[in-house]
Parts: sequence; C-alpha cells; structure tokens
Amino acid sequence: MPQIAINIKEGTIKKEDIIVGIDLGTTNSLVAIINKETGNPIALRDAEKTSIVPSIIHFTSTGEIIVGNAAKKYLIEDAENTIYSVKRLMGKSYKDIAEFQNNFGYKIIDDNTESLVKIKVGNKFYTPIELSSFILKELKHRAEKVLNQLISKAVITVPAYFNDTQRQATRDAGKLAGLDVLRIVNEPTAASLAYGFGNNTEEEKIIAIYDLGGGTFDISILKLSNGIFEVLATNGDTFLGGDDFDRIIVEYWLQKNSVDKIILSKNELQELRLKAEEAKKHLTGNDSFTGSIKNIICNIDRSAFEELIKPLVGKTIQSCKNALRDAKITIKEIETIIMVGGSTRTPFVKKSVGDFFQKEVNISLDPDEVVALGAAIQADILAGNQKDMLLLDVTPLSLGIETMGGLMDVIIPRNSKIPTAAGRQYTTSVDGQSKLLISVYQGERDLVRDNRKLAEFILNNIPGMPGGLPKIEITFQLNADGILTVKAKELRSNTEQSIEVKPQYGLTEEEMSLMLIDSIKHAKDDMATRALVEARVEAENMITTCEIFIKKNSALLNEEEIAGTNSRIEKLKTKLNSEDKDEIHQYIEDLNDFTRPFAERVMDMAINKAMKGKVI
Ligand code: ADP
Ligand code: MG
Repeated sequence: MPQIAINIKEGTIKKEDIIVGIDLGTTNSLVAIINKETGNPIALRDAEKTSIVPSIIHFTSTGEIIVGNAAKKYLIEDAENTIYSVKRLMGKSYKDIAEFQNNFGYKIIDDNTESLVKIKVGNKFYTPIELSSFILKELKHRAEKVLNQLISKAVITVPAYFNDTQRQATRDAGKLAGLDVLRIVNEPTAASLAYGFGNNTEEEKIIAIYDLGGGTFDISILKLSNGIFEVLATNGDTFLGGDDFDRIIVEYWLQKNSVDKIILSKNELQELRLKAEEAKKHLTGNDSFTGSIKNIICNIDRSAFEELIKPLVGKTIQSCKNALRDAKITIKEIETIIMVGGSTRTPFVKKSVGDFFQKEVNISLDPDEVVALGAAIQADILAGNQKDMLLLDVTPLSLGIETMGGLMDVIIPRNSKIPTAAGRQYTTSVDGQSKLLISVYQGERDLVRDNRKLAEFILNNIPGMPGGLPKIEITFQLNADGILTVKAKELRSNTEQSIEVKPQYGLTEEEMSLMLIDSIKHAKDDMATRALVEARVEAENMITTCEIFIKKNSALLNEEEIAGTNSRIEKLKTKLNSEDKDEIHQYIEDLNDFTRPFAERVMDMAINKAMKGKVI
C-alpha cells in the first residue's frame, strides 16, 4: 500500500514520491516513469510529443540557458556558446581528451589547478558536471510538468565501462540538478530490464546488447542468472556512431559535386551535416533521398549509403568479436541480441548484426527509449513496487582481508548477490597483542599484493591475553549500493571497530576483467605460492610457539629436551626462506615429532590455541 502523508498545518497532501529513470546520453537524453495504471514504463514527452531531449546546452548572450531541441539550431548559429557531447568529458582530465580537442566546437580549457576539464563559455568556466546538471534539470522539469508534482529522486544510467570518477561525476550532476540519485545503473542492464529480462529468477541466459548511438558504440555481453546481471565483457569505440554516418554522407556529396571542403564555412558544413542526418534517417524507411543546399545537390540512395557505412559497421562487428572472445563464449551461446541507440534503426546495421550473431535481433522496443525505460523499471524496483524482483547487482570482485604471510582471505566471493554479509573468526599470534591491523582487499589473486587495497584500520584495546586466545570476529557487510562496512570485534571483551569502504565504483570494467583474467592465468602459480607461504607461516608460528614454550616451561623440561628443541628451531629458521615447501614441512615435522611427547606433558591450554586456528 502506498502511504499518503498529510501535512496537517498546510492541509496539503504530499503525493507519494515518484522515482524517475534517466538516460543521460551523449547525443540524446530521456526521462521515463512507470505508468501507474498499466504498470509499463513510458518515456515522458513534451508538447510536441517527442521523448528525446538532445543533450545540447546553449548559453544566450543575455545569460539564459537553453537545453534540448531549442538549443540544436545554435550548433550552427553560435557554435562557441553551444555545448554538446558533454558526456564524453565526464570525469576526464585535460590530458585524457587533449587529442580530441579539435572534435569539439567549443573551448575546453585546462586551468592547471584542477585535473578535471572545464569548458569556457563567454567568460565563464563550467565543469562537465555542471553542464550535465543543466540537462538533468531540463529532464526533471519535464517530468514535473507532465506529472504535476515535484521530483527529487532518480536512477541514472551510465555505460558499463564508466569508471568510479565518471560514475561519481554523474551522481554529482544529479545532486546539482536537485536530484537524489538512488542508483547508477549500467545502460546494457537497463536495456535488458526493459525487454523483461531479469524478472524471472529461474531464467539463465547470455544477452548481447549492441548500442550504436550518435557518437559512441558499445557492445556488452551480460549473463543473467537468478535475476542478476553480470557483465561478462564490454567492448566498443568511443568515437564511432551515427555522427560518422552523417560525416561520410557529407564527404560523398562534396565529392559528387566536386566541392572542396576548404571553401565552405563552418556554418555551411554544419548545415550539410544536418542535411546528411536527415537523409540518413529518411533512408531508414525509403530507398532514396533527394535534396540540395544552395548549389550542392544532396542526393543519395540506400545502396550507396550502405556501401559508405560498410567499413564503419564492420568495425562494430569486429568489436563484437572481441567482446565474445573476452567473455569466452561462442556466438551460439548468445540467446538474445538487443538493439539500443538511434543508429540501430538503419536497416544495414540491423542486418549486419543479425548476420553476425546468426539470429534475429530484438528491436521491438524503441531503440532511443529502451535505456530510459529500463531505468524507470529499476527506479520502480527501488521504490519497492516490484517486490518479487531482486536487486540486480552482484559484487564483481572478491572482498577479503590480509592474513599472515600476505595471503588474501576471501570473505565475500566475487559474484555474490548484494546486499550480503559474511564473517569469519581470527586470532592473534603474539602474547599480549593489544592492536590488530585489518587490511581490506579486492581481487581474485591469492596474495594481497596482487590485489587492490581498499582500506585498513586498527582494532585497538584488545585486552592482554596470550596469543591465540582472543576471538576476533571480522564481518563484511555489502549493501545494495556496493558500500562495504567492515567490522572487527573481539568477542571475549566486546572491543569493536568498524569502517566503511566504497569498493564498487573504484575500478573500471576493464580493470576488473583484467584482474579476473589475471587471476585465472595465475591460478596455478598462485596455488604453489599459497602453499609455500602457508608453509613459511606455519614454520614461523611453530618457531614462536616453541620458543615461548621452552622459556615458560624450562623448569619442567630436562636439558636434552631443551637443547634438542633449540637445535631443531635453529635448523627450521635456516629453512624459512626456502622455495621448497616440502623441505619446510619436513623440518616442521621434525620439530613437531621431537617436542610432541614432552609438550603434551606440559602444554597449557592457551598456547595450544596459538598453534591451531587462523592467525592474522
Ligand atoms: P546517444 O546514446 O549517443 O545519446 P542515441 O541513441 O540517441 O545516441 O542515437 C543518436 C543517433 O541516432 C544519431 O546519430 C541519429 O542521427 C541516429 N538516428 C536517429 N534516428 C535514426 C533513424 N531513423 N535512422 C538512422 N539513424 C537514426
Ligand atoms: Mg545511448
């Protein structure tokens, strides 16, 4: 039951919060909600019935900010003050984009004090976050107008390969626009949700999402099982999209008309580009296009167009091959291909992709809207309206702590559904140890030095106890946003310490898959290393324990026992750096066998504990 809050003072009814889903695109952005009556997602439209908001921002000479369709014409009329493709700049430093500066009609500056780029408009500087927030504000206003209520919560989509900085920047843009961003969702995941994948927890399938937008191409391979989407691989081209189709048509016309590009002004070129886009869209449903701009004849038929874009589409197919290779799957294993992005409307693209995957592609939902629709579904799940849907996230890499010898002890394994919690008990190695350093790592390798450190903290005030006696419980709690809380508690004394870490957005998908590939490659090495490290740690523990034992109990032992133990300890010490685990084990056994008879005689419970159990 939705709750209705009544403000008694004002006599107003506070309407139930609606969480909107937003596709913040490079070329176009959209906002969608779930229709209360039908339960289906719908994209919100303006008075002209269009759902698409071009991601274009124009600054007028009077200081006004115009976003969307109304800003589009200024791309020609006032390029300097009209910003597009700002998504490309999100979370980027000047260094990242220096080589692409010429691709932008506006000024990107590097003011040295900050590593992230800014854009100069007039005499003001804007960050990509601020600029994106203008687009988000426009979408927010659209939703408020259509729904006749205030909107303050949203789910925003980002490409699967977006890294931490880029995701954080997207969140910040939302905040600036007055939106509480409840979740950042991967675009391919959203598209899959829109097609209804994920609401049957039984189904298990592999989905390919082919997303060809205005300026970017992404292919993602997702694996869906138990209602959870796992990104198996992503690939693509950050400078390939429908804009390139337009550009290539312009080149074609210039050549046909024997016009040299150099003689054209910026505005004339831009005008030609818009004409080319018009032609391209027309060719989606027709066999030929005719038109002209001044004395340039702008004719093209479909077969000529297809011939022109063939190499570009070929590039996307190569990316698909790479993605399959990275995901280690064959074409046959792909059950569904989802088409996303305006450029997938081009029949030649549809056909080429279908031919490559040897399957009919899914394009029944509007490829412009499908990501926003999926975002709206995710928003509805978060609002608690789809109780039977699971939270659709898993933790992409294992989380654990460092144990003795630099070993990684995994507490939450990779691909665990989140939210989740897990814990384990540890103890100390040294008598009277009052502090314990807990280091948290993410990754799949056996040695922490090969993984990524997320945080460390100290459990203080452990009361004095013999080594091995404290019972330290370490619990990991991973919430739905991927925020990890680590707690350490000494159970005998109830001493407690905790820390919050944010692991989820720290790595790019690429880094993540590299870490995974790395772990598989090194699995054998790792096992051998782990065995060696374990042998060394065991030897060290054995030495410490025996030394303490001899010191504490010298009164109860005869000379032969003491001398024999000491000489075996010395021998074992010389083997501590041995690369041969069997040799180390042999000397451990020797010491063990020798001390066992009298150790049993005098062994005290606390020391006994130190020899067993895990030690950090
Ligand atoms: P993005 O995700 O980058 O914001 P979109 O998915 O909105 O981009 O795709 C925009 C691209 O789709 C533009 O290049 C546009 O020209 C192209 N496009 C839109 N409609 C059609 C159509 N009917 N036929 C071919 N291309 C189209
Ligand atoms: Mg898109």
